[in-house]
Amino acid sequence: LQRQYMQEVHLPAQTLDGERVNLFINAGLLSGLASELAEGADGVGLYRTEIPFMLQQRFPSESEQIKVYSQVFKLVAGRPVVMRTLDVGGDKPLPYFPIKEDNPFLGWRGIRMSLDHPELFLVQIRAMLQANGNSEQLKILLPMVSNIEEIDHALEYFEQAYQELKSDVNPDLSKPQFGVMLEVPALLYQLDEVAKRVDFVSVGSNDLTQYLLAVDRNNPRVSSLFDSYHPGVLRYLKSALELCQQYGLGISVCGEMAGEPSGALLLSAMGYRELSMNQGALAKINYLMRRVRMDELQALLQQALNMRCGADVRELLRDYLGEKG
Ligand code: PEP
Ligand code: MG
Repeated sequence: LQRQYMQEVHLPAQTLDGERVNLFINAGLLSGLASELAEGADGVGLYRTEIPFMLQQRFPSESEQIKVYSQVFKLVAGRPVVMRTLDVGGDKPLPYFPIKEDNPFLGWRGIRMSLDHPELFLVQIRAMLQANGNSEQLKILLPMVSNIEEIDHALEYFEQAYQELKSDVNPDLSKPQFGVMLEVPALLYQLDEVAKRVDFVSVGSNDLTQYLLAVDRNNPRVSSLFDSYHPGVLRYLKSALELCQQYGLGISVCGEMAGEPSGALLLSAMGYRELSMNQGALAKINYLMRRVRMDELQALLQQALNMRCGADVRELLRDYLGEKG
């Protein structure tokens, strides 16, 4: 079957009634990136910078980071790369930077840590900007944003790094687009303010589900409660899309559900047109998209949104996918 998926992977992911959905990959390691992209991705929708950081014994220097990010841009060859600033803490500790907390998922993670360590944050931003140079590939993404002040502070640091590099290193340095992860539920109600500051939102459905449902995403005891297909979560995701459209914010999804057949179908029915997923999922999602009708998916979504629980939604989608073979 995988061979069958691969045969069509270079074709655009477009439904039978002509709706194009852009498919991107999530990445973090350099190895394999070129071949992954050769398999028909529209670019990198999430580059997790904590992964190269995890492979080191200490924080990588500015020049070391420039080297890694430059390779990413080169391998992605002209297509966009959404680079997320360091997202450590929670379930992703750095071996050389231990963080001990009772509730790490509610603690010092993502942008919170970066803003408390501007010396690390500035180096990372400077490295991204220099690696990108004059090109339009780079989009910078901030993880775990929970309030507007964090965006403002991050943008101040960005502006500082950008102006310094422009006057000292490269007068033609490109200014990248900026985005924030939608992972902390409350941010939804300030998307109007978010839209005044950044260009796009990327929905981290893994953390978002964890925080919407108050279920640790890695605790096996409650793993049956962790459900991105919970109708409440689906309704939230639909609202997020609608609000972003209203405020003119770009929006994509880079959590696991974007790479699951059921998730990709429901999200595209809501109106999402950018999905970023693990490379292994891309060919299958592409294959599937080319065999469904958007009006059919929209009817399916209406049913799903009104269901009692995630298990019912999964069953609905399973039956639909079964019909599609
Ligand atoms: C997410 O939370 O959905 C996400 C994509 O970020 P990560 O899995 O790296 O926390
Ligand atoms: Mg996350």
